[in-house]
Amino acid sequence: MSVSCQLVTFRVAAITAAMQQKVTEAFPVYMKFLGCGDAFGSGGRLNTCFLVNRRDASFLIDCGASAMISIRRFGVDPNGVDAIILSHLHVDHFGGLPSFILDAQLVSRRTRPLMVAGPKGLGARLDALMEAHFPGSTKVERKFPVELIEISPGRPVDVGSTGVCVSGFVVSHPSGTPSLALRIECDGKILAYTGDSEWVDALLEAGRNADLLIAEAYCFDRKVRFHLDYATLREKLPMIGAKRLILTHMSPDMLGRLSELHDCQAAYSEASAVVKRVILTALRSLPVFPRKRTQVGHRAMSGSCQ
Ligand SMILES: [Zn+2]
Ligand SMILES: [Zn+2]
Repeated sequence: MSVSCQLVTFRVAAITAAMQQKVTEAFPVYMKFLGCGDAFGSGGRLNTCFLVNRRDASFLIDCGASAMISIRRFGVDPNGVDAIILSHLHVDHFGGLPSFILDAQLVSRRTRPLMVAGPKGLGARLDALMEAHFPGSTKVERKFPVELIEISPGRPVDVGSTGVCVSGFVVSHPSGTPSLALRIECDGKILAYTGDSEWVDALLEAGRNADLLIAEAYCFDRKVRFHLDYATLREKLPMIGAKRLILTHMSPDMLGRLSELHDCQAAYSEASAVVKRVILTALRSLPVFPRKRTQVGHRAMSGSCQ
């Protein structure tokens, strides 16, 4: 399958305190990258959509326009998704919601609540999107409630029965409502996600010492307004202190320069472990790379790639 690389499964790295380590070992958190592309399908990648499975709940981080394609392709049960947490309201991050909700209503026959958490103003934008995609769809009675949770910056909020707590940090990326970086506490582990944004210091707070940081790397070193480039991210990595890093949302410019990441690893030894993981993940995501490099990436991953 030409884009099967978009599904990467791994176990989030253990956390520091001994007590928490026990919790981590007992209840690992798994992630699957169902989509890691930009808004324009660069590299043939699907729009942003990450699936997180914890002890007894599952949730999506972002639900881009191609989310239902990803969900079907990778055999995910949509009724098993308890909640969807949105970083911002651009089509490649929340445009899959109308199809997800209509599928739940008409095809998957969902009966239990679906929680959708996102920036302030989510309700009005979701209604408008539903009506644009499927006119009249907001007026039809559903067999399941869609419960909206607004994420206010600086106010951590529990996402219902998922047992996760999410904090939002306003970033620099105009999307009609505040665009957020997310910091999600889940079974004693921290998942952080930059969303789309040029560098702002709020990303330090969002990602600080996270067990996993998922970061936009739209370009290699070219500055594009409202987006993050790899060179800037690399410079900030030691300050962020994340234990693991995975790049996402890459443009053709970044995808075309992944082979240069080897030099970056040597030049930034203080962050070499983190950078190494970035390289391996990036290589793993590109089937066009030489077989040898791909195999190295496979050995280094603690989970499996499909
Ligand atoms: Zn985007
Ligand atoms: Zn965006």
